[in-house]
Amino acid sequence: TIGMIAIDEKGNLSGACSTSGMAFKMRGRVGDSPIIGAGLFVDNEVGAATCTGIGEEIVKICGAHTIVEMMRHGASPEEACKEAVRRIVKNNGDKAKNVQGGFIAINKKGEFGGFSVMKKFSMAVRNNKMEKALDVKSWF
Ligand code: ASP
Repeated sequence: TIGMIAIDEKGNLSGACSTSGMAFKMRGRVGDSPIIGAGLFVDNEVGAATCTGIGEEIVKICGAHTIVEMMRHGASPEEACKEAVRRIVKNNGDKAKNVQGGFIAINKKGEFGGFSVMKKFSMAVRNNKMEKALDVKSWF
C-alpha cells in the first residue's frame, strides 16, 4: 500500500491510498485500503491517517479512524499511531511480532508521526524543512 496524507498552506488536510492488496489473496477479498476509516481517514478538523500491512488486522481496529479519534482527544500523531499498533499487538498475542502493520498520521498543526509493529518501516516526509525518508519507532 502507498498511503499519502498532506496539509496545505491553509491547513486543509487530505489523504489517499492505493494498494495491490495482499499476495495470493482470495478472489473478491477487500482489504483495509478501500475502506474509509480502516486504511485511510481524514477529518479536516483534526487530522489524517493512513495504514499499510495486513488489512484484516487493520480493519478489526478501524485503524485510521482510531488514530484520528486519538488525535481529536489530544494524542500526538505518533502516540495515536502507537495506540493502533498496541491494539493489533494485543489482538495477536504471541503471533504479534510477525504481523505487518505501519501507520502514519498528521494533525491540523502539521505535526506528523508514525509507528509500526515491526522495525524498518519508514515514511517519506516532504515539507519546507526536509525531504527525506524517516524510520518510525516500532513495537518490536
Ligand atoms: N493493506 C493492504 C491490504 O491488506 C496490503 C498492503 O498494505 O500492502 O490489502
